[in-house]
Amino acid sequence: MRRPGAVRLGQPLTGRACHDARMSAHELVIRGGTLVDGNGGEPVVADVAVDDGLITAVGSDVGSGRRELDADGAVVAPGFVDIHTHYDGQATWDERLLPSAWHGVTTVVMGNCGVGFAPVVPEHQQRLIDLMEGIEDIPGTALHEGLSWEWLSFDDYLTELERRPHDIDFATQVPHAALRVHVMGERAESGRAATGDDIAAMAKLARAGVEAGALGFTTSRTLNHRSVTGELTPSYDAGTDELAGIAAELGAADKGVLQLVTDFVDVDVDFDVMLAMMRASGRPLSVSLAQSPLAPQTYLEVLRRIAEANAEGLQMRAQVASRGVGLLMGLPCTLHPFMTNPVWRRVEGMPIREQVEAMRDPSFKEQVLAAQTKEKNANLIGGRLIDKYHVMFEMTDPPNYEPDASESVAARAAREGRTPEDLVYDLMLADGGQAMLYVTSLNYADGNLDAVHTMLTDPHTVPGLSDGGAHVGTICDVSFPTTLLEHWTRDRDRGRIPLQFVVQRQARDTARAVGLLDRGVIAPGYKADLNVIDMDRVRLRRPEMRFDLPGGGRRLLQRADGYLHTFVSGVEIYRDGEPTDDLPGRLVRGAQPAPSSAA
Ligand SMILES: [Zn+2]
Repeated sequence: MRRPGAVRLGQPLTGRACHDARMSAHELVIRGGTLVDGNGGEPVVADVAVDDGLITAVGSDVGSGRRELDADGAVVAPGFVDIHTHYDGQATWDERLLPSAWHGVTTVVMGNCGVGFAPVVPEHQQRLIDLMEGIEDIPGTALHEGLSWEWLSFDDYLTELERRPHDIDFATQVPHAALRVHVMGERAESGRAATGDDIAAMAKLARAGVEAGALGFTTSRTLNHRSVTGELTPSYDAGTDELAGIAAELGAADKGVLQLVTDFVDVDVDFDVMLAMMRASGRPLSVSLAQSPLAPQTYLEVLRRIAEANAEGLQMRAQVASRGVGLLMGLPCTLHPFMTNPVWRRVEGMPIREQVEAMRDPSFKEQVLAAQTKEKNANLIGGRLIDKYHVMFEMTDPPNYEPDASESVAARAAREGRTPEDLVYDLMLADGGQAMLYVTSLNYADGNLDAVHTMLTDPHTVPGLSDGGAHVGTICDVSFPTTLLEHWTRDRDRGRIPLQFVVQRQARDTARAVGLLDRGVIAPGYKADLNVIDMDRVRLRRPEMRFDLPGGGRRLLQRADGYLHTFVSGVEIYRDGEPTDDLPGRLVRGAQPAPSSAA
């Protein structure tokens, strides 16, 4: 294994090292690894000692451990913190928050984009499922089977989440759509203004949520967010008075962060809303940002405005992706180019094996191609992109997330002298019909990831948008942290980013962005959430479809190689991608203070 430019430490890194090392052995010592501590400094070779879930010593003389792990040549990094996930349902029925935990992630924050399942009254449960199913592409049947609905208030929901141990830590946020439905009932539709009483009631519930332990309040203003029945998300055009009114109550509680997703179609309007929320509350805000193919320069304007807001003293961050926000299409997925084709639809309900058998018949293929329509599915996220062959690529193994335009389905078909439909039909039949296509929808307007480089390295951004637990039939971006390691620090042919920078961003900075000051750094007193990584072996595998959600629902999963050991609170949870029997992950209630030693 390669040791990336590390120097061995002659002295313990900290004064607290060895405080009790000579008296008794540490619970765990990770020895001789290349420490990338989350603070952004040069990697150094050092030992890390762990006791009672915390890091207790870092240096070259930390004493012995009852378990000693030889990390020579490997990178030792803090566990990653993913602040943009949608495990709100999964966390209630599944003790494993996969696929996040396969990518070095030790804390996830869910409840983003204004959708979630609490607070709720029984008559609104179906509506919240419809919203989650439509907005986040989580099968309604899985939600019906999986959710116990043993809660009403947000606090009850947290109590239900706490009943079950998990592999990694997780935290919640209060979702605006649930508040709107709770307070406004039938009136909770987009375009319907909240009254002063409605706003006061929502603000009170948001405050109760953060006081119970939610990390913040989230909302959505994107046209992409529709319920499964096509209805726009209830928060879509909520007024500034409503959003600032709710935010102000978090300010009064002096707790919580604000999260928002929007299309930035009108940057002025969006900034008016966000600045009003921040000024009314004094709370930090983060907003999702990606390069739109329709307005490829807008993200630069947004970054400029965010810098201005920070100059004004407001804590504003953009959450940015580490690659294109890519759609996966194919027979196992929600979307593919023939999904609206009247001939193909004859095989739609069949198991994939039988679909493949039927599709291999040349006369069936001929009929399908002859009947191919331009019809899209406008209600599904990505439904308009099913025939965008110039940005559609074969998903290879290992995946290539920065493909060249010459490899697109359109370009290949032109070279081969056939139609894109003819080529894509054959591509979909590979691997027994499990083959997938990768469609670069956002962040790829330049035909490369240069815009992503700009966003990732901007001073006011943090990695986000992985959407873990969501879009399970269309998107598998949970592997963003591994792309940071693999592509951005190692494999990209130009514009690479130092390892210590991406680790700082994905661990310490994301944790701080949501108020978790107790993690994301390797230093005494911090939580012992740790990764031991073989940087030479880090590699994403190809996404795969599994049918293991409640009710047999499907979901995309993606594994990675190179994560040798992942620890949560000092307990090993995964070893080379395989789970241990331990489940040390807990619900994190509320912001967490920095260790007193971290002054
Ligand atoms: Zn989201």
